[in-house]
Formats: sequence, structure tokens, C-alpha cells
Amino acid sequence: MRVLFLAAEAAPLIKVGGLGDVAGSLPKALRELDPQLELRLVIPFHGVLREQELQLEKVSLFRLNTPGKTFNVEIYMTQTSLGEIYLVGGDGIDITAPVYQSDPALDAEKYCYFSLASLEFCVQEQWPPDIVHANDWHTAFALKALRDRFPEHIQFECTKGVLTIHNLPYQGQGAQGVLPQFGLSAAEDSRLPEWSRGFPLSLGLECADRITTVSPHYAEEIQSPEFGAGLDGYFRGLRPAVKGVLNGIDHDEWNPALDKEVKQPFSSRNIGQRAENKRELQNELGFAANNAIPLIAMVGRVDVQKGVDIAVAALERSVHLPWRAVILGTGDPELEELLSAFAARHAQQVRCILSYDRSLAHRIYAGADMILIPSRYEPCGLTQLIGMRYGCIPVATAVGGLVDTITDERVYPGRGTGFLADHQNAEGFSRVLHHALGAFGERGTWRKIQARAMRRDNSWSRSAKEYLELYTSLQPQTNAGKTGEEKN
Ligand code: ADP
Repeated sequence: MRVLFLAAEAAPLIKVGGLGDVAGSLPKALRELDPQLELRLVIPFHGVLREQELQLEKVSLFRLNTPGKTFNVEIYMTQTSLGEIYLVGGDGIDITAPVYQSDPALDAEKYCYFSLASLEFCVQEQWPPDIVHANDWHTAFALKALRDRFPEHIQFECTKGVLTIHNLPYQGQGAQGVLPQFGLSAAEDSRLPEWSRGFPLSLGLECADRITTVSPHYAEEIQSPEFGAGLDGYFRGLRPAVKGVLNGIDHDEWNPALDKEVKQPFSSRNIGQRAENKRELQNELGFAANNAIPLIAMVGRVDVQKGVDIAVAALERSVHLPWRAVILGTGDPELEELLSAFAARHAQQVRCILSYDRSLAHRIYAGADMILIPSRYEPCGLTQLIGMRYGCIPVATAVGGLVDTITDERVYPGRGTGFLADHQNAEGFSRVLHHALGAFGERGTWRKIQARAMRRDNSWSRSAKEYLELYTSLQPQTNAGKTGEEKN
């Protein structure tokens, strides 16, 4: 089976958020699971990638004709620790632009070009894909192009489309102006709200043979007005329903026993050794070493979604308690300002690092005691998976994939791997934070929570199998490949 896997970012080359982790590690897991699988992972040759010293092989040069313009396309291939990655360069990629701009209209041409050039690459190479797997709005254009531009093309005769939604509110609003110049039309599916039909995500929703999202709980939630971003009615009526396949993490990349960024390797069998990493981290942050004071972390995009303000308010409420906090992230300037002011108010207790620092993130997971994830919504979330793997216990809101991956110690005493707040607000979150701080004080209990969290299997093993089964079920030829659902 041949799979064309399209994404805007992929680790280890370029990672802005969780999509980069997933697009890097899922293809690796799929290839390991089925060595016969021919999977081509393709991303744009972003300007920032040109600053890296990549070993590049130029694999193809061709023209892409569109009603608006003819583009010269260059395709490169590079080997990475997670396998080979194809890069689409050429006229359609503005190398001065970042991976994502604040307005999808500014990114529209790049991603539409990228999607079409990736399909044209298959034509040029005579490499007919069985599956085109698009991720989020940036690559959803490809599924529409299969229908509008290549309706009867021999290369795509048997091609099926899969669309994975990693973050539903991001639908590419404003990018619709680019469609005519690439020969694409808006979605016509009357079940989609009219206002959404030009948005790239809707093109993918209309044309995908199967739609997935990144956790079972989020797949349910998006059918409600609170989480559906205006498409809840559409999702409620969809058959087959959106399938939730839980994200995993690469257990080689995130391995506390082998992590090169970490001073003292450790595992669930010798969690005590972890204290050395906490000591190092405290030193690095300018805190006097004290293992008895909980070190609370937050790592992620500084965004309303991530509840940065909720974390600040909850920590303010507990400021009389002994704790220290380290916050690592970049994003919304106003929220960054809020964080800086918070750190300045509590200079003895809080450190705030407003940058993207991959290496520091590893040291934080390995040394901090708990990680706060007060998200307002969370399609899956990776920081809780990484945190658990490193014995850094998640304290999170009970939304999306956080519900699927964290067992709440308050609800299941003696079985928990973290703590979940029922309400996405400061009051609810501060209650659960208090509880977690209390549990931290009971050393034996805390150790057991850490050991359970570290032993949880958050790897891709199960989910990669689910994706493979999904791909197989879409293949026309075999009955064996069909799911029960489709047979009936
Ligand atoms: P998102 O909604 O951004 O995709 P996830 O929790 O799914 O959130 O994934 C976030 C990923 O990005 C994690 O691997 C996390 O460690 C990493 N990350 C986020 N912000 C930073 C940062 N400032 N420095 C280093 N790593 C970061």
C-alpha cells in the first residue's frame, strides 16, 4: 500500500507544536508496523529549513500549471532520525515567511500550492498513492484537488482520502480567496454550514473518504456546540462518524533512560535518581535546591486555548503555599505580558522563559514534579504524555484527549496517573492544583503515581495499528480489508 502523508510541519526537521511531533513520529511507527508500506511524508521546504545543514537529494523538477500561474516545483528528499522526509520547494514557497502566519489568507497560496504540487509529484513519479492522508486545513486542499483537478486521472483512480483534524477551530478562515487561481471550487455539501464552505478544512471534510481526529473524547466533543466550532451539527449527522485515534509519542525520542538532554537518566524502577535532574533544573533556574518544594511546570504555546490565564490565576490563589513554577512557551503577546508580570510579581517563586527551547523542554519534563495543562479544549495534547513518561505528573482540565490519557487520582485513588479538573476555570483548576500539591507531600503516594504514569504505554503501537486498519478498510479489492461497519 502507498500512502502520501501531507503535513505543514514534521519533527525532527520542523516542529511548531504537536502536529510536528505527530507527523514525524506516526509515519515512523507505521513503517515499523508494516515494512511493506510505502509511505511518503511530504512537507513544505519552509525558509527556516534552509538555515539547517540538511543533506538534500534533489528528486524531481517539474512545472505545475494552474489557471492563475505556472509554478516551477522542486522536490527534495532528506533522511532524518525518524525516516525520510520529502520537501516541496519552488516558486510557491515564500522562503521569507514563517511556517504559519497570523492570518490564513497569507498562508493560503503556500499551502494550496504545496498540496497540489505534492499530488503532481505523484503523477511525475508515476507513484499512484492508495491513500492521501491530509492533516488540518493546510493540506486539505489536496483532497479537493483529487476531485476537482484529477477526477479521472489514472494515477488517482483508486486513491482514497483521509483527513485528520488536529485542531478544529483552525479551518483556514480567510484562505478561500485563493481557490479560483488554483482551479478549485468551494465545497458544495449542503450539510456543511454555508459560511464554512470555502474554508480549506471544509474542502477536506467534503472530499475525505474518512475523517479522523486525535482522540476519542475530542471526536465526541466536537459534536457539541461548545467544542464544535460551528460544525457540531455537521459532525452529529456524519456517517461514518469522525473516528478518534489517540496520538502517541515516539518512545525512542522521549525516553528518560536514554535522553541525552538529561543529566541523570532514570526509569520507573529508579525514580529516586530523578531528584538529581530536579536539582540541576533548580540550579539552572536560579532556585536554591530543595527537593521538598514542588516544582510546577508549564510547557506549550502561550495561547487562550492552553489556559495560560487559568494557570496564572490558580497559582496566584495558592501563592501562600510552598511551590515554585517554571513556564516555557511563546505565543500571544498579551498573554506573554501576563506571564512576565506574574513572574515579576513573584520573583522568588516563578520563572518564565518566553522562547521555544527544545532542549530545556526535555530538562523540564525530567526535573519538574508536575506539569499544568489547564486547556480550555485539547484535541489530544502531547505534554501530558511526555510528562507522564518522565514522571512529571499532569494536572489538567478534563477535556479532549486529556480525559482519554490521564487517570484521575482523585476519582481512582491508588490507580491515578495525574489529576483532572472538571471545570475549565481558575476556581476548578485551583481546587485540583491544591489536591495535587497535597498528594506531593505524601512521598510514598506520589512515587506510586509517578511509577504508574511512567509505565503507561503512550507509544504509537496501538494507534498506528488503528490507522493502518483504517487505510486497509478503504482499499477496494479485499473483503478482508473491510470493517464490519462497511460490510453491513
Ligand atoms: P499543540 O496544541 O501546540 O499542538 P501539544 O501538547 O499537542 O500542543 O504539543 C506541544 C509540543 O510542542 C510538545 O512536544 C511540547 O513539548 C512542545 N513545545 C511547545 N512549546 C514549546 C516551547 N516553548 N519549547 C519547547 N517545546 C515546546
